Amino acid sequence: MTGALRGVVALDGPSGTGKTTVARKLADRLGAGYLDTGAMYRMVTLAVLRAGVDPADAAAVAAVADRADFSIGTSPERPEVRLGGEDVAADIRGPEVTKAVSPVSAVPHVRELLVGRQRQIIGDVVGHRGGIVVEGRDIGTVVVPDSPLKVFLTASADVRASRRSTQDTAAGRTSSVADALASVERRDHLDSTRAASPLRAAEDAVHVDTSELSIDQVIVALSELASRRGLLAGCDAEVAR
Ligand code: C5P
Repeated sequence: MTGALRGVVALDGPSGTGKTTVARKLADRLGAGYLDTGAMYRMVTLAVLRAGVDPADAAAVAAVADRADFSIGTSPERPEVRLGGEDVAADIRGPEVTKAVSPVSAVPHVRELLVGRQRQIIGDVVGHRGGIVVEGRDIGTVVVPDSPLKVFLTASADVRASRRSTQDTAAGRTSSVADALASVERRDHLDSTRAASPLRAAEDAVHVDTSELSIDQVIVALSELASRRGLLAGCDAEVAR
């Protein structure tokens, strides 16, 4: 056991709430592993697009998912994502994948496959590191329903769109706030209305609205929650401050 965190922190919520930044920084601060489950759905989506398969064709999507050779790292400093050995970190964030990822992740077989992989990775990391911060849409409800700390991040649609637009611009992609708003609203609608594990908060999740908070304020709030729940071994007071 190398870090302070014991167990799994489940971090769910729609896009643009700061989940990825918060999850990575929190994992880093608590000496824990980090798993970006969205990146796994994005890698399968990239494989689907590269195979020339229609994302709406569930049977063909499932077949690509079965064959896809992808791997994901759990280091919060540098979480590597590889498809067929190739580093696909930039490709999985591109507009084509972002547009196709919701229909691909609505395919029940894709979810079964990825949830199985996620549970395996989480078990390994908890075994050797002690704890992990996992981000996604169904972590507290489906992947780790017995997680001792479930957090559901929210933010107003305007704030989420403006964050997404800033991120896109920083990554060299042009995106107006209006386009980003349409994109986050479309994806949220698809993710929360699908039949298989829709995006929703677990009943026992703590809701944190990040609209008016800085990333550091969110990290401090979550570290304190983890400490209060007895999830930090040894250096509680120091880490939680
Ligand atoms: O978190 P990110 O925006 O990268 O997720 C991309 C997409 O992957 C989401 O819009 C959703 O369709 C899907 N996803 C999911 N379940 C998860 C994580 C992501 O369905 N646990």
